[in-house]
Amino acid sequence: FTNLKKYDPEVMNIVEMETNRQRKHIELIASENFVTPQVMEAMGSQLTNKYAEGYPRKRYYGGCDCVDLAEDLARDRLKKLFNADHANVQPHSGSNANLGVYFSVLKPEDKVLGMNLSQGGHLTHGSPVNISGVYFNFISYGVNKETETIDYDEVREIALREKPKMIVAGASAYPRIIDFKKFREIADEIQAYLMVDMAHIAGLVAAGLHPSPVPYADFVTTTTHKTLRGPRGGAILCKEEYAKIVDKAIFPGIQGGPLMHVIAAKAVAFGEALEEDFIDYQKQTIANSKALAEALIEKGFRLVSGGTDNHLILIDVRNKGLTGKKAEALLDAVGVTTNKNTIPFDPESPFVTSGIRIGTPAMTTRGMKEDEMREIAEIMNLALNESNDREPILERVIKLCDRFPLY
Ligand code: PLP
Repeated sequence: FTNLKKYDPEVMNIVEMETNRQRKHIELIASENFVTPQVMEAMGSQLTNKYAEGYPRKRYYGGCDCVDLAEDLARDRLKKLFNADHANVQPHSGSNANLGVYFSVLKPEDKVLGMNLSQGGHLTHGSPVNISGVYFNFISYGVNKETETIDYDEVREIALREKPKMIVAGASAYPRIIDFKKFREIADEIQAYLMVDMAHIAGLVAAGLHPSPVPYADFVTTTTHKTLRGPRGGAILCKEEYAKIVDKAIFPGIQGGPLMHVIAAKAVAFGEALEEDFIDYQKQTIANSKALAEALIEKGFRLVSGGTDNHLILIDVRNKGLTGKKAEALLDAVGVTTNKNTIPFDPESPFVTSGIRIGTPAMTTRGMKEDEMREIAEIMNLALNESNDREPILERVIKLCDRFPLY
């Protein structure tokens, strides 16, 4: 950062403050991670200077020979990682990847069946405040009230009754395995497209630790920055028959020039995900999640669905006399970063909520294991009791973070 330091100390100061925040906090936001320095180097590279509208060897600008190589590499590595026919690595975000798929085969007002936002789905799966909910006629499925897991019979019932043109599977706050084969069978019964948004679990899928949606879905979308541990961005995988319409929907459909520096960084991250130790990392992420869940249950916390199969945990904080908003603030005050989240059938509004969502991808990247998860559960338990003194809890957080240096 020698140049930034010299020419813009104001921005440099912000970067330093944020780096320190990341070093000194326990990061439990389930959708966050820490990328490697080599991913950051590619993102900060000269490739940011290049306009490359179009796709490799079919660009609307000259001078694209080198960036073509980067995009080819990213596409090839992603296809290999997920055993997919076709990959588009240009979506600037997960939201754009989803919008791109919708734009490729849907017309405004078309009916789409997605997971209820308040029970685990994502904004782009039909929320009325998102373009998906404004332009398309989204209807939703949720989880069973008792088991708090997806009720596939209910999904089927809604699908047969409503006959949507597309079914969207995938979630932002669902701690259990999703059965993509079942979703395919339901979609086949009504000849609907199946789109799977695997943003949260992409890393687990890449490592073979969650069933892959690729054999079943017509379209698979993902973010690249969650469990997959790449730069902030999105990607789409699809069957060969949809390759052309998906590419056209992203450019010129909803985006202009691709971010070639980010695409180069995606290539680096996908390369890392193809290495053997990436599987070990994902195994540890799940082992940590299970250890943290167990420790929290021992301390009397109620977990939605009773536990976890993946990298994330949804805690119902009502029995601790708290709301999600209050719990998030209490944890924030001792350097533990989480987010408030609705739980299924939440009586509170999305701004208050009855739950918090936590996850282990980031702290697993820092090298933490089951013992540290038990320490985190202890810290959370102390922090969520308002009568406890904050200072000694904060000290425990700093001590734990210092044992696992970052950057
Ligand atoms: N899909 C799912 C399931 C997500 O959880 C998210 C982000 O949280 C997205 C899509 C959107 O990704 P982005 O924030 O990159 O637009």
